[in-house]
Amino acid sequence: MHLDVLAIAAHPDDTELTCGGTVIKMVEVGYKVGLLDLTAGESGTRGNSRLRAKEAACAARIMGLAYRGNLRLPDAALEDRRDYKLKIAQKIRDLRPHTVILPYWEGRHPDHYRTGYLGYEACFLAGLVRSPLSGRPFRPHKIIYASHYVPSLRPTFVVEITEQYEKKLKAVMCYSSQFSPAKEFRNLFPSRTDVEARLATVARHFGHMIGVRYGEPFVTREVAAVDDIVEMPVRSI
Ligand SMILES: [Zn+2]
Repeated sequence: MHLDVLAIAAHPDDTELTCGGTVIKMVEVGYKVGLLDLTAGESGTRGNSRLRAKEAACAARIMGLAYRGNLRLPDAALEDRRDYKLKIAQKIRDLRPHTVILPYWEGRHPDHYRTGYLGYEACFLAGLVRSPLSGRPFRPHKIIYASHYVPSLRPTFVVEITEQYEKKLKAVMCYSSQFSPAKEFRNLFPSRTDVEARLATVARHFGHMIGVRYGEPFVTREVAAVDDIVEMPVRSI
């Protein structure tokens, strides 16, 4: 398989929440987009891995993914381990994505920021000629980091998702086990209405930065190049 875009995330629902609109937008453009979840979310307080797999399949259908895989690494216990990196690197060789989306490398949940590091090192390992991996060496052209979980961070760029916002919300709502809390968890977890309100607020915040209704934020380590300064988007004044 030859993907244009591969999003790698710690848990099923992370990609939908952090960059689902961008994924949907790229599918609409005609790109082949895939998603690799590292864990099945089995340590989540609610739902179980079987239910979450069903929810992930529902979201994959809505987003129009060409591929969705799960490496079943241990949830809430992602560590800096070579065997984990090699497993991800093998997927990168198999799927050969031009662009990879990773979670931003800092944040509250260790699984999220570790996925940022593991994913980056896996992209590097996938390109080594001498490695225990099968298939031809390959490195993605571009790595971008979805920074939605760190809203205080100033992004490198924002993708407008105004047209994709409703579909993104639908994909997120596939994970109903996470958003319909039983009574005993209501103080711990947000309700569906709270999730919708938060998503809308964050998407409006980043949309506002580029003068549109809804947006999703990204960070890159490298600087962007501009050819034509007359055609640069986003008004200054
Ligand atoms: Zn997560």
